[in-house]
Amino acid sequence: MALKILLNGAKGRMGHAIAAAAQDAGAVISAGIDFGDNLAAHVSDCDVIIDFSSHRATAAVLDVAIAQNKPVVIGTTGHAADEKKHLLMQAAKVPCVWAGNFSVGVNLLFALTRHATKVLGADYDTEVIEMHHRFKKDAPSGTAARLLEIILEERKLNAESLRHGRSGITGERQPSEVGVHALRGGDVVGDHTVLYAALGERVELTHKASDRGIFARGAIRAANWVVSQKPGVYDMQDVLGLK
Ligand code: NAD
Repeated sequence: MALKILLNGAKGRMGHAIAAAAQDAGAVISAGIDFGDNLAAHVSDCDVIIDFSSHRATAAVLDVAIAQNKPVVIGTTGHAADEKKHLLMQAAKVPCVWAGNFSVGVNLLFALTRHATKVLGADYDTEVIEMHHRFKKDAPSGTAARLLEIILEERKLNAESLRHGRSGITGERQPSEVGVHALRGGDVVGDHTVLYAALGERVELTHKASDRGIFARGAIRAANWVVSQKPGVYDMQDVLGLK
């Protein structure tokens, strides 16, 4: 039986990408909902709800999912920290995959970064380099921020170790520094490299995104996975068995 997906944010860029990925995966969009439509009216006919809309919609999506006991995949970003804390408690009442990045490759990069940092340790100078298109308004990217969190966790360092770019008489590099470099230009969708450099060798882990379809395909994979899970909040590391 084809998986029936209720898609919230259906008219957006991700909504279109998810509809295409669903078709490729043999799933069906039982209803495509967007701003102003009545989500609750369509829930009984779906196996799972996927939401890539606006952070303002998440509370209502979860209310509907809980009321009808439906699994949910949340890709929407931009929630304030205390708002997200409350929403996560709600989300735990149903099976829910919630991830800021649904790309399978990026999630593998997170896991590889954790492993490499653990193995290589402080002997390997660690730097994160990201590149995005010229229109991006923030830096470093959310994905780079997550990579840095993982590195700091594994090295037992705090955010004071981060070194954003270098200029002038910086002195020799300290072992506790973790460098961060944001490049901007053209139409680059998103490149991330974690570089480990020691005396005599260098390891580089690189992910390059060229199409937002990677997030859509990851969300469909999460939807197929979450329908057979117990209530609770999961992320893509769970979906991919990387924990
Ligand atoms: P978009 O602006 O192109 O589309 C959003 C759509 O949601 C629009 O059609 C809008 O009308 C609709 N919408 C807004 N409020 C709504 C509501 N209350 N109810 C129903 N629909 C509503 O944006 P996008 O690029 O498609 O991104 C959507 C969300 O997904 C953003 O939060 C974005 O940051 C996030 N995103 C997450 C990932 C990931 O991997 N987690 C990847 C890409 C984008």
